[in-house]
Amino acid sequence: MRRVSIFGATGSIGQNTIDLIRRAPDDYDVVALTGATNIEQLARDAINLRADVAVTSDENRLPALRDALAGSGVQAAAGEAALIEAAARPADWVMSAIVGAAGLAPGMEALKQGTTLALANKESLVTAGPLLMAEAKRHGCTILPVDSEHSAVFQGLIGEDIKTVERIIITASGGAFRDTPIEDLANVTVEQASCHPNWNMGQRITIDSASMFNKAMELIETKEFFGVSPDQIETIVHPESMIHALVGFYDGALMAHVGPPDMRHAIGFALHYPDRRKLPVERLDLAKIGQFNFRAPDTARYPALDIAARVMAEGGLTGAVFNAAKEQALDEFIGGRCGFIDMAQAVNRVVDVMLTREGLQNATITLDSVHDADAMARALTVEHIAKTKG
Ligand code: NAD
Ligand code: MG
Repeated sequence: MRRVSIFGATGSIGQNTIDLIRRAPDDYDVVALTGATNIEQLARDAINLRADVAVTSDENRLPALRDALAGSGVQAAAGEAALIEAAARPADWVMSAIVGAAGLAPGMEALKQGTTLALANKESLVTAGPLLMAEAKRHGCTILPVDSEHSAVFQGLIGEDIKTVERIIITASGGAFRDTPIEDLANVTVEQASCHPNWNMGQRITIDSASMFNKAMELIETKEFFGVSPDQIETIVHPESMIHALVGFYDGALMAHVGPPDMRHAIGFALHYPDRRKLPVERLDLAKIGQFNFRAPDTARYPALDIAARVMAEGGLTGAVFNAAKEQALDEFIGGRCGFIDMAQAVNRVVDVMLTREGLQNATITLDSVHDADAMARALTVEHIAKTKG
């Protein structure tokens, strides 16, 4: 039996992970499940999967969690310290699927106990890639990417020498507004931005797909995870979302990973690695699909891509600042305090301002320095948006 824990169990990735585990319940011994606000779901899954502990990040919801778990034998816990304590519990495989910078600390803690870390939380690599990768190395841990694009690249590199890789091409659907006239983007609503043409995901990553902040994050994630240089990383808009990424080798070969837009493939690959097992995903009928399309990304439509290039060039804590400004700008957009295109404008401005402060690029990346840079960037983002919109 493999001991598994799922951080962010109530979210889209978490629920897809649980779906796979439920299909072979005798193979897994569930240690910890975590969530935030959806206590009913968290408790139901923890009871069904006989988890040792269920944790909500929200301390105010501990009484509700305790009530929901009463008599089940599942422990209830709450708060940031409880998340870390859950991550320290020995497990063979840990899914990191909390959304946002809050996912970094539990993932770092899990690495200390030598686990295999299935990493959906791309924010960990964007904010603190070198720290996370070094910690994994130190403890002899394997990190397996669970972003579909990065799982695709990982699979394309099996048996290959990374030194023979010329380029990595990350595909992008183009998101909700890929065909919306640019002049209309200023007035799009949160509801419109929350509809993805191909993937069914959490709201935050869906809006980030419309702005391509998600793709910007993924370019940085590619650099940090695979250790390639920024000029080896490309993006292409591929509206069908069936080619997840391509790896180009120096003999001119391009290896593409093709599959349906279903995260259970990347999750299942990470769950069973290094084996492959049958997964309940659709088998593509290529004749029926007929064609795959590609177009160059328009950086006027997607300014986030240029910001990502800058973040990669500067390094250090620039990623932590970028991510925090992006998360805060998204909160402002969802809260109706700024428009869709104001997000990129604010993030760009905050990255600018913070880069002029001494040492951001060369700062040592620690959990504390990331935390401080994050807090400062969020405050500046709120201030900037209040000033420009007020
Ligand atoms: P989601 O919003 O559906 O779920 C997020 C989970 O995190 C929930 O369990 C929630 O309770 C928990 N959470 C939220 N705030 C928290 C906090 N402050 N502290 C602790 N827990 C908190 O998100 P998702 O779409 O499942 O995405 C999760 C992660 O996976 C993100 O980093 C996302 O970028 C990445 N990812 C998601 C997909 C996808 O298909 N959904 C694909 C690739 C990568
Ligand atoms: Mg992705």
